[in-house]
Amino acid sequence: ELEVALKVVIVGNGGVGKSSMIQRYCKGIFTKDYKKTIGVDFLERQIEVDGEEVRLMLWDTAGQEEFDAITKAYYRGAQACVLAFSTTDRDSFEAAHSWKLKVENECGEIPTVIVQNKIDLIDQTVVNPEEAELLARALGCRLLRTSVKEDINVASVFRHLAARCLAE
Ligand code: GDP
Ligand code: MG
Repeated sequence: ELEVALKVVIVGNGGVGKSSMIQRYCKGIFTKDYKKTIGVDFLERQIEVDGEEVRLMLWDTAGQEEFDAITKAYYRGAQACVLAFSTTDRDSFEAAHSWKLKVENECGEIPTVIVQNKIDLIDQTVVNPEEAELLARALGCRLLRTSVKEDINVASVFRHLAARCLAE
């Protein structure tokens, strides 16, 4: 039986929790000051979707997103995308549209989930729920709200993407 392997890229402004999400999902840990391990491009986790084994390779950046300097190698061959913004960072929400275009430019139309992270900080939100829904509709993507810190909905993001990819 052939194993399915999926390259997933995680984009969004710096500080929204991308590296934390990869760590959480692949290693089961949350640390306050995650620093990328030098030399590691991605972490992986294997899951079962509809009786099929799927190996998810979650690609991280080393902070290049803050300088708009993500290389083509990062996007190359990506089959799915997580587009993340933070509940407490207005700029990260406003930047979502341009992140979507960047990914489309490099990868074409690939299954994408919009993630509103840090939902544990909802009492400090700078994005109202309707705006987030509107954004998701405008970009034609599913919206999921997560807390990497509290481990809320993180697995759903990747289950959803894997299922979408298998269905194609
Ligand atoms: P990246 O720049 O997008 O990779 O973001 P990081 O993963 O480095 O996270 C930036 C900061 O946000 C770190 O201090 C994390 O601990 C914190 N963080 C990540 N996810 C959450 C979350 O769901 N809730 C809260 N409260 N903090 C988070
Ligand atoms: Mg990071």
